[in-house]
Amino acid sequence: MNSMDFLMSSRDSTISWLNTILCERLSKHLKLMQCGKGYLLLTVSGSATNIRIRSEPATFSQAGSDLPCASWDPQPEGWKSALGVPLPAPGASSVPSPLIEKIDTTYIIHYDLLGLACWMLSRQEEVGRVDLDKHGRFPARSSHAYKHGYLERPIVDEWLAILAQVVQRAWPQLALAKPQFTVRVSHDVDTPARYGFSSVGRLLQTMAGDVLRRHEVLEALRAPLIWSQSKKKLHSADPFNTFNWIMSASERYKIISAFYFICGKTYPAHDARYDVRHPAIRELMRGIHTRGHEIGLHPSYNTYKRPDIIASEARVLIRTCREEGIKQATWGGRMHFLRWQTPATLYGWEQAGMAYDSTLTYADHPGFRCGTCHEYPAFDPVAGKALQLRIRPLIAMECSVLAPRYMNLGSGDIALKKFIQLKQSCRAVNGDFTLLWHNTLLERQQQRALYEHVLTA
Ligand SMILES: [Zn+2]
Repeated sequence: MNSMDFLMSSRDSTISWLNTILCERLSKHLKLMQCGKGYLLLTVSGSATNIRIRSEPATFSQAGSDLPCASWDPQPEGWKSALGVPLPAPGASSVPSPLIEKIDTTYIIHYDLLGLACWMLSRQEEVGRVDLDKHGRFPARSSHAYKHGYLERPIVDEWLAILAQVVQRAWPQLALAKPQFTVRVSHDVDTPARYGFSSVGRLLQTMAGDVLRRHEVLEALRAPLIWSQSKKKLHSADPFNTFNWIMSASERYKIISAFYFICGKTYPAHDARYDVRHPAIRELMRGIHTRGHEIGLHPSYNTYKRPDIIASEARVLIRTCREEGIKQATWGGRMHFLRWQTPATLYGWEQAGMAYDSTLTYADHPGFRCGTCHEYPAFDPVAGKALQLRIRPLIAMECSVLAPRYMNLGSGDIALKKFIQLKQSCRAVNGDFTLLWHNTLLERQQQRALYEHVLTA
């Protein structure tokens, strides 16, 4: 295929992928197509009305975060902003007024909101970037969203909410999809036990940490007993064994918790000390399954550029679960350390046959890395093709908010306010508030209270 043919076929698959998203999010009757140069056309079969949407593929096919960013207030034009404030308009240095107009039977939107959706959802911005953190991750602070102050806003959803209003005016008889706001919680099982799975040397080190850093002398004294009794089952007194508490909390609020397990070792210093085939982990997984919660994959540290290893770690998980009689309709998970490279990591999940990935937020700042809190079909911006995999954007990892190395908001009211604000933004666009909370950060009463507040707010 020559480069012109590649561009055309990639453009066709981009439009078809965007059409799929519009069908899922608005109505399955919508048909999107190219309309000359510079516009896309949205139609409904049998109707003379249509919507023309500005399209500037050259703007939104760029990796990099140097696009200009204008702002548009929908209210004076008679449209409603989902969050009640003007919308950022990345890619434009100014926007025309009016931004949306009607000429005869055509509504014209003079902003490339679908180009923006494509750029944000496919993570085109991150392709080939070298301004990464020490774990090779694209950090929030390098992103266009952070630099222009909209990282904590689901801007793709906000623009689709505007498009929904135009669609509704163009075709009042069309019943639009009405997604329900949902809370999703998941727990990366990096360290299921504080004392179990340790060598003697490691146990002594942990005990020293109990005394010197955590000032938990009693815990340190109990450690050898807990350690010696953790061979077949996690010990109920191990401070990191909070799994039953987590499941009970989820059950109180009618939430299904997902627990993602590490199934390989590619960098022992950062990977798990446990083997997923260990009797104590098998027992834990059986317990999770019996209570109706979900088990998933947490690919080890150095797998994010190695689809073949992600696939082999997935096979270990599925085989172990099968041996334990654990059957699930859907399998998914999240990358350890949130390590991610677009598009390589996508192919790991794809090759593993997993239905979804829920990695995409930033470690150093919570918010909407993909500009959305709705699940969507993955897209490779380099090959220009849609994948089977679905992306479930993560909105917050708890330590991004709490930890001194990230936002450092403590574990009191200031942190709670941040979580609630993110959750409200998800609610405003009827999306999913997807939250990662590790089992190791629920051992203290204050942590548990904060977590429950976030779930119930
Ligand atoms: Zn992890």
